[in-house]
Amino acid sequence: MEELGPQEMTAYKPSNEPVPEGEIIVERGSTARDIGPKFNRSAGDVVRFLFLQGATVTATQSLTDDMIELFAAELGAEVRLVDPGEEREAELLAKYFDDIDDAENDEDLEPRPPVVTVMGHVDHGKTLLLDRIRSSDVVSGEAGGITQHIGAYQVITQSGHPITFIDTPGHEAFTAMRARGAEVTDIVILVVAADDGVMPQTVEAINHAKSAEVPIIVAVNKMDRPDANPDRVLQQLAERGLVPEAWGGDTIVCQISALRSEGIDDLLEQLALVAELEELGANPKGIARGFVLEANLEAGRGPVATVIVENGTIKVGDPVVAGAAWGKVKALLDDRGKNVKFAGPSMPVQILGFSEPPQAGDEVRVAADLNRARTLGEARAQRFRLTGHHPVAAAASGAKLEDLFEQIKRGETASLNIVLKADVQGSLEACTESLKRLERDEVKLNFIHRGVGGVTENDVQLAAASNATIIGFNVRPDKRSRELAEKSDVDIRTYEIIYKLIEEIEAAMVGMLAPEYEEVITGEAEVREVFRVPKIGAIAGCYVRDGAITRGSKVRFLREGTIIWKGSITSLRRFKDDAREVAAGFECGIGLSDYQDLKEGDIIETFEEREIPRV
Ligand code: GDP
Repeated sequence: MEELGPQEMTAYKPSNEPVPEGEIIVERGSTARDIGPKFNRSAGDVVRFLFLQGATVTATQSLTDDMIELFAAELGAEVRLVDPGEEREAELLAKYFDDIDDAENDEDLEPRPPVVTVMGHVDHGKTLLLDRIRSSDVVSGEAGGITQHIGAYQVITQSGHPITFIDTPGHEAFTAMRARGAEVTDIVILVVAADDGVMPQTVEAINHAKSAEVPIIVAVNKMDRPDANPDRVLQQLAERGLVPEAWGGDTIVCQISALRSEGIDDLLEQLALVAELEELGANPKGIARGFVLEANLEAGRGPVATVIVENGTIKVGDPVVAGAAWGKVKALLDDRGKNVKFAGPSMPVQILGFSEPPQAGDEVRVAADLNRARTLGEARAQRFRLTGHHPVAAAASGAKLEDLFEQIKRGETASLNIVLKADVQGSLEACTESLKRLERDEVKLNFIHRGVGGVTENDVQLAAASNATIIGFNVRPDKRSRELAEKSDVDIRTYEIIYKLIEEIEAAMVGMLAPEYEEVITGEAEVREVFRVPKIGAIAGCYVRDGAITRGSKVRFLREGTIIWKGSITSLRRFKDDAREVAAGFECGIGLSDYQDLKEGDIIETFEEREIPRV
């Protein structure tokens, strides 16, 4: 505990100055001196307020998020906490790019090819399907060029529609990108082997796609196998909410054999059709931006990033910035390794010329000039250094457990996103049912994913991407999932008793999660005399007026009703002996540790914080 600087104490005047209107942006880790002026207050006001709340800080000490929010709440001010450097980055983004963004309007939108990800259970044929699609490309024969695996490729269907495929099958990459705010995929192909049916990863894939609100086309694969049973697959899918068109639903199902290259063309035409219905549009003349799919450092070529263009056209020579990486586009290479001059919407392309490899999921922007690209890149690099992490984009709607009650209080219909994992199917169902019963008008539960087994990194990524809380019943996260959860701010709660689980979630729903504390005064003593004892320092000779003074208890010193110091009692004496407790009506000596300026007549008050049970 530190005492208040005299400067801060005297600087305090109850201020009736109005607080600036609108959102006040404060960097995390700011000091009282930093934030005071932002709220039209002095540093002393901040220190003093926090002091009264039980936190002793100096004017130049970093405040916690809670302290800043508490102070803002006291003033009725709206505060937004940002990471150091985030504000500058936002300013730069607004300055450099917002005006150009405005220039994009609907009239300039043109249809763009869909970007497709293939998902499904292991060994159901995702990789083979991607290979077959690639070699089915109608132009590849004529145009030549050696196939390059750059992370994505584009094919033209027989009816002339271009389609982009992400070359990394499975939902891991898909969700990792989403967790970074990169919503790249427009359509998901769900591959289900006709001889194997819906398997755990099939279910995961469905949930990941649904959570991203991306339409699913089902490819029932391995139709060539004698034990193929497509009807069973359809039945299982229907049970998962994917009702095939043939049964009156709206899920498109194609029966294929990747091995024999059968049904592939039909699948591609169906994709083109869905893309048309989705009305995917982009403005090729608009400001160019895209997402990094993958990036690495290559010998002789330097940093190489595969990018899918989202809007506009990236050209050779353009100044670009992605995350902290910046540079001038030296060369663009397509999925056949051919040099191209430009890349338009939905086109996958390798960019050479970045200062360093950006990260998968980073947004790539074309800047007006190299200077701006560099300024933004360097501002971000600095921020990553300061905060030690790469920014994670704002997550989807729906709340985490800890924010749930806030949403309800604001009168919004809150929804709690949940990833539920349990040890066996039976307990999974039991937990689901019990949780569902908690739903009320104002709180909805959203199961983003339910599954049997431990909490995996995949679950954490999904939770991060969809702003969900992970609930584990009789299962636990392993070390890597825990670390990832920590890094991506995902809450994992594990239970072994169902009623505990229900109790806690219910508690969150009625706002009982965080305990509230109240202060209870436990003792009061009046200072009669202050002695200086060599080597020990000042000791206040006191008379206990009320309650009892206990060693170790929290204490504040009051002078004419004003708090002048706060800390804890480290030494307590009765005559010459150490005492644990001195009751009312007795005299005692209280050691003043690092506070020496107590005077006769000051009051020493001890207190305790007790949890208030909520009703
Ligand atoms: P992934 O794990 O989903 O990527 O599956 P793969 O593409 O690696 O395929 C797994 C296995 O299934 C391989 O041995 C493939 O040759 C085989 N396979 C894939 N598609 C078909 C198919 O249509 N018919 C048959 N019979 N085998 C297939």
